[in-house]
Amino acid sequence: MKYSFDFMYKKMRENDTSFDGLFFPCVKTTKIFCLPSCKARLPLKNNVEFVFSSSEAIKYGYNPCKRCHPLNAPFYNPDWVEDVKAHLSENFDRRVPDTELANLVNQDISTIRRYFKDQYGMLIKDFHRTIRLNKAKELLSNGGKVTEVASLVGYQSVKGFKLAYKKQYGEIENEKP
Ligand SMILES: [Zn+2]
Repeated sequence: MKYSFDFMYKKMRENDTSFDGLFFPCVKTTKIFCLPSCKARLPLKNNVEFVFSSSEAIKYGYNPCKRCHPLNAPFYNPDWVEDVKAHLSENFDRRVPDTELANLVNQDISTIRRYFKDQYGMLIKDFHRTIRLNKAKELLSNGGKVTEVASLVGYQSVKGFKLAYKKQYGEIENEKP
């Protein structure tokens, strides 16, 4: 478990929205599950258990709270997400280590990894690769040479770049050597 019970219970008591979607309090007595920020009365500690996805809550027989609508949680972004995505976009020309992101937004690396896994079903580096290849596509369609574009988006090997590109977009059109 990535957060302690007491930590999560504290977030509930504070109605902290920054953890919405990252964990879900389930109330055993009412069989309702919520967002940590739910404004409903705080349930007793003994009546709460925590899960980390809404599908898990449903699997255990909990119903979504009508007040905080926990099923909408996947659309909720913690406030550090935009900074992480902006940093990845700006740095399309190199690999960005996960730890660099963690330091940038002062979040636990496992929180960031989990977010990308939950939201996009991929690792951060895979998410970043799609950004870099997207940039490559743009550069290529503006007449960039493959060898140059590969290097501009941070690939040391042209072969490696072509393989990755092909996987995402198919063959490079009108390829200039
Ligand atoms: Zn609720």
